[in-house]
Amino acid sequence: MILKAYQIQDGDEGYGCVVFATNSATARREGANELNADWSDIESCRRAPHFDQYTPGPVPPMALIEHGWRFECQHCGRRVSNDMDDDLEADGLDPADFVPRPAGSHGVFCSESCERADYMAQQGREEAADALREVFEAKFPDAEITHVHASSGPKLEVKTDRGGRSFVVTFKFPGSQYTSEWDFGGNFWVPRCDHDAFFAWQGIGAGDERRGRDGNAELNGARRASDLSAELGAGG
Ligand SMILES: [Zn+2]
Repeated sequence: MILKAYQIQDGDEGYGCVVFATNSATARREGANELNADWSDIESCRRAPHFDQYTPGPVPPMALIEHGWRFECQHCGRRVSNDMDDDLEADGLDPADFVPRPAGSHGVFCSESCERADYMAQQGREEAADALREVFEAKFPDAEITHVHASSGPKLEVKTDRGGRSFVVTFKFPGSQYTSEWDFGGNFWVPRCDHDAFFAWQGIGAGDERRGRDGNAELNGARRASDLSAELGAGG
């Protein structure tokens, strides 16, 4: 069974993909699947012999760009293509500074500086997650951490915006049935069925409870995490 490369184009959204199949009908069906489109939305399904060498796929993004495909930079969102020089010059930028580079998960970066910035941001988030874990472990040594989430870094910050939830530890505590959450601002999210166990664990009277949305209680920690992080030197 010899697989051949086909280029599938979605009419509405202008998206495309390359699939490897034995015939055009199969390629069209697989392409529609990959593009999350209906069979009838597929504008074209053409043989792409220049991609046969990459059987069974995927085609490296740099090879796609070479053949006129367009990507968005995974870091800054800039359009990346083999004719991006005009856009760059129009923005007052030097095209020599923008040599596209492959990123993870088949994406691209527009330049080495975006690749580096993305790497630094990732490092920062990992540092923040480590610091957050340290703060939490010092504050609640008998809790068992199941997940640590940091959406920025390396600095831990108390966000006043409650929707942000930038620094969150998911954990279980002695006597709990399910996981609870704690954010760096010192707020707890505890499932209703674990409230009694939580109050016992924290030595908090039931009167301290504040009803939150979604049937979960929001509980204010006795000590603010920011105070503790200052002691540890992890915070601002
Ligand atoms: Zn970029």
